[in-house]
Amino acid sequence: MSAHLALKIGEQAKMAEIRFHNTMSGQTEPFVPLVPGEVRIYTCGPTVYDFAHVGNFRTFVFQDILRRYLKSKGFRVIQVMNLTDVDDRIIQKAAAAGLSIREYTDKYIQAFLDDRRALNLEPPEHIVRATDHIEDMVKLIQRLTEKGFTYTSDGSTYFRIAKFPSYGKLSKIDVAGMQTGARVDMDRYDKDNARDFALWKAPKPGESFWETPIGPGRPGWHIECSAMAMKYLGDTLDIHSGGVDLTFPHHENEIAESEGATGKQFARYWLHAEHLMVDHEKMSKSVGNFATLRELFSHGQKPSSVRFLLASVPYRSQLNFTPESLQGAASSVERLRNFASRLRTEKFPEGSSPAIPERAANAREEFEQGLADDLNTARALAAIFDLVRDINTAISRGEFHQGDVAPVLAAMDSFDAIFAVLKDDDAEKLRALGLGQDSAGPSDAEIDALVAERQGARKRRDFAASDRIRDQLAERGVILEDSRDGQVRWKRK
Ligand code: AMP
Ligand code: ZN
Repeated sequence: MSAHLALKIGEQAKMAEIRFHNTMSGQTEPFVPLVPGEVRIYTCGPTVYDFAHVGNFRTFVFQDILRRYLKSKGFRVIQVMNLTDVDDRIIQKAAAAGLSIREYTDKYIQAFLDDRRALNLEPPEHIVRATDHIEDMVKLIQRLTEKGFTYTSDGSTYFRIAKFPSYGKLSKIDVAGMQTGARVDMDRYDKDNARDFALWKAPKPGESFWETPIGPGRPGWHIECSAMAMKYLGDTLDIHSGGVDLTFPHHENEIAESEGATGKQFARYWLHAEHLMVDHEKMSKSVGNFATLRELFSHGQKPSSVRFLLASVPYRSQLNFTPESLQGAASSVERLRNFASRLRTEKFPEGSSPAIPERAANAREEFEQGLADDLNTARALAAIFDLVRDINTAISRGEFHQGDVAPVLAAMDSFDAIFAVLKDDDAEKLRALGLGQDSAGPSDAEIDALVAERQGARKRRDFAASDRIRDQLAERGVILEDSRDGQVRWKRK
């Protein structure tokens, strides 16, 4: 083999390498799963005390891009997402509403699953409720107790962080000089309050609790994820992920609990999504600067615009959420949909040209390289928009032929396997959420049927009927475009 060829092969192998930024090492590293061909991912899910907001969905969209990408590379993905359906807020709110914890959270779990569908988030292989796994959590706490990692105080069980020397390795927190035995009962606290944390909390008067071998009470937040992650994915996971705010204390504590119990590495790659921001502040319930998907949709935003916006900025960059950015996302989706639909419906001159398939192959290559580079979605998207521009130019110059359609559509398909915005189904999505019945307009199937009816009228040369259908659709927000070859394309206004 010539040195030149060897170099080319070497370069190719390097280019195809998947690299992810690992919070644990602070480096962007080659991604190699523990078992070849299979990736086991744990993704921290929502606390279901209320509707999730768009900030939460930034992280969930990132996790969806991650799983879709790995699947597109041929990996078998096993993803677990937990639903935190017991915590301080849930207990208080359920009690105030006079409902059991399950009854109170059922509504928000259903809403979360519906919202996920609206954003085309693929269902994880396991979506699991914390309250279905109390026994697993108790057993894990018992294992930790046997190994001397815990102590009890006033009926609650705490993790003694001084017993776990590598405590702080993920968030790089310095625990030297910290007062031993100081405890924190809250699930959420900041680095300045690093303390022994509660694994099991004794019930307060009037609170719901579970009667268990370690006493009455309820689990702390962190033990939920350790127990459920290891139950479904084994002691060592390939990827653990969440938003950056989970790095400390949540993930740090999950590591202490899991590695304390097993003596093995808990997760090999830690991937954290940066926050969705509003005016330089993290979108959050506590600040009050949040919007739920339903609020956005009922104000006329489309599910595809929200998904596109959240997906388009690489997950390790903060994303500022503004009405203009959503508007920009809506136009980008429209541009891509129009392009794909043009390729599918327009008749181009017969034949093909070698330059176009080559151009499409380059775009796909660049798209792949962008994603392999720590899921750089902005770079991947730029490759697709460049392709759209070049092909539109080729079409207008008459340099694009019918035989060139397939390779360009194939490039659009590989884009859509990850971004999932090309299907024009926003109106149906909104209807499924019980929103925008009128403003959403007719469904795809209804439009297709009316278009076919109008084609029939035109064939019969019944132009009055044909015009009537066109006007009716226009009134309901659908525009028809008749192309020269007799085909009809439609789009929503
Ligand atoms: P929670 O329901 O608070 O446990 O959050 C669910 C997920 O949303 C976690 O992975 C959080 O890190 C993530 N999250 C919360 N707020 C934001 C935000 N503003 N931007 C991105 N992710 C967020
Ligand atoms: Zn978690």
